[in-house]
Amino acid sequence: MTKPICQRILLKLSGEALMSQGGGSIDADIVNRLAAEIKALCDINIQVGLVIGGGNIMRGSERAAQGMDRVSSDHMGMLATVINALAMQDALEKHGQPVRVMSALKINQVCEDYIQRRAIRHLEKGRVVIFAAGTGNPFFTTDSAASLRAIEIRADLMIKATKVKGVYSADPEKVKDAVFYPQLTYNEALDQRLNVMDTTALVLCRDNHMAMRVMNIFEQGAVMRLMLGEDIGSLIQ
Ligand code: UDP
Repeated sequence: MTKPICQRILLKLSGEALMSQGGGSIDADIVNRLAAEIKALCDINIQVGLVIGGGNIMRGSERAAQGMDRVSSDHMGMLATVINALAMQDALEKHGQPVRVMSALKINQVCEDYIQRRAIRHLEKGRVVIFAAGTGNPFFTTDSAASLRAIEIRADLMIKATKVKGVYSADPEKVKDAVFYPQLTYNEALDQRLNVMDTTALVLCRDNHMAMRVMNIFEQGAVMRLMLGEDIGSLIQ
């Protein structure tokens, strides 16, 4: 079998990726399908770190715009990511995949604390590590958390899952002639204010030479095909 192009990846899913069409916050079938894809990657010895957002349940900035204190609403957002992480942990275990949730906020009855060395040890032992509670700090996003964890665990690649094929000059669902970029630099993404991730996350990746692939996670088997050498989505470096 072809050797995978990466030994260790950090996969970033938005919370919305778990949502059902009907608007339910966590769709069991979707979580199950994603878990099966992640398990397949582990089966060919790719070490997988996972960050799942919380936008399907709570976004701090949205709550704050309605008048809530931003720090409290961001705490709620971070707790939402823990809920998603537990759902994914359960689904992965049902597939027979060893997995640990590590939280940036201390919730010891629920999951482990995030400790960088211990996370790397889990990955080396073939366990999926789900990094929950973002960075543990308000005013950040889970995109920034994903960039940070990707760098900390020394991932070969960060994969940002989206609903579209990759990075475009404009939203392809709204602008008909939006141009698709198969490759670009972080500076181009920043200068053109392309809607990839927030600036903090992009700068963190740029300054720490973390390559990122932006791709459609809803295309079944796409991450596996990427790992086996196919050129899928957009590469930012
Ligand atoms: N959040 C935070 N600090 C972090 C990461 C996340 O305060 O380091 C909060 C923030 O309120 C955010 C929410 O958690 O809106 C959910 O994360 P995000 O919006 O990034 O989720 P996604 O859009 O990826 O589903």
